[in-house]
Amino acid sequence: MSEKMNAYRMINWGEKPQQVEVEKPVAGPGEVVLKVAGNGLCGSDPKMCKLTEEIGTMIQWQMPFTLGHEAGGWVEEIGEGVVGFEKGDPVVLMSSSSCGKCSYCLEGNDNNCDYGHFGRGYGRNGSLAPYVLVNNPREIIKLNTLDPVTAGPLTDAAATSYHGVKKALPKLKPGTTALVIGAGGLGSFAVQLVKVLSPARVVAVDTNPARLDYVKGLGADEVVDGTAENSAELIQQALQGGAAAVFDFVGTDQTIESGISNLRKGGMFVLVGSNGGKLDNQWYGTLPTDAEITTYQGQTISDTKAVIALAEAGLIRNDVDIYPFSFIEEAFEKLETGQLQGRAVIKMED
Ligand SMILES: [Zn+2]
Ligand SMILES: [Zn+2]
Repeated sequence: MSEKMNAYRMINWGEKPQQVEVEKPVAGPGEVVLKVAGNGLCGSDPKMCKLTEEIGTMIQWQMPFTLGHEAGGWVEEIGEGVVGFEKGDPVVLMSSSSCGKCSYCLEGNDNNCDYGHFGRGYGRNGSLAPYVLVNNPREIIKLNTLDPVTAGPLTDAAATSYHGVKKALPKLKPGTTALVIGAGGLGSFAVQLVKVLSPARVVAVDTNPARLDYVKGLGADEVVDGTAENSAELIQQALQGGAAAVFDFVGTDQTIESGISNLRKGGMFVLVGSNGGKLDNQWYGTLPTDAEITTYQGQTISDTKAVIALAEAGLIRNDVDIYPFSFIEEAFEKLETGQLQGRAVIKMED
């Protein structure tokens, strides 16, 4: 008889997820089953629940599936042929997905994998459940001292920020300034990563004063209240001659416009947030010369390993609020309605 467990799942397109009983996964050849310790809630989770069937079918997602793509846990069952793990190993799972075989994966740019849109917690069963199946053990990263209950968000929010910051590091020389637009879950990691990995100053802008206080505590040199009437002027003053790199974690028309106009010549605008913003500048006259503009980029396995190593070394902080799995409906509701202050992790119970 197969064992049962409760999972938090999407049942139908455009509907609220539900907690339902499903079968506990079993590791087949080449697979691993993790006992989930904790799973971070991500801003993309409620967005998925609003997808239409048309889009879902286009990206080949299979309904129903269990949500959750920021998992930490322990190795529970090791399938035939899998080496390098022992039962009980504390680990995190890659939040992004990749095939390991295509040309992008083979060159180490697995963030660009053609199969990346179909992963655990988005299209197939994720980790908002006591156990999760990992069909590709290369996406398991071992932990040393980090707590698997709270480490999950590092694989998503922190690793995505890391990829963007790493890309812009050649621009962040001594005496330069980086501008972080949006000091929430991802932006707060970007502030820390720029400070740890480069000699640049960091200016952060956000519309939420609590977030600005928080990133000041994480090392932001100056913060600007985005709701101030003269915020454009305040940003310019704080940058002291333009930003060598701008990290836009919001991605609206307004932030893209502001970010690019505050770029120093030869600087880099790194787009991470996706909120439908457009780049509507004329190529000549209004853009800084010799600048680089990136599109959305995700994170690679090597980025995620690097971020975990920084957190293990105590160089970046990962502050989360812990909610028990029995509180999932309420936590999800708070996430959806913007009532969560920090990053939330759902802790699985025994
Ligand atoms: Zn996410
Ligand atoms: Zn691939």
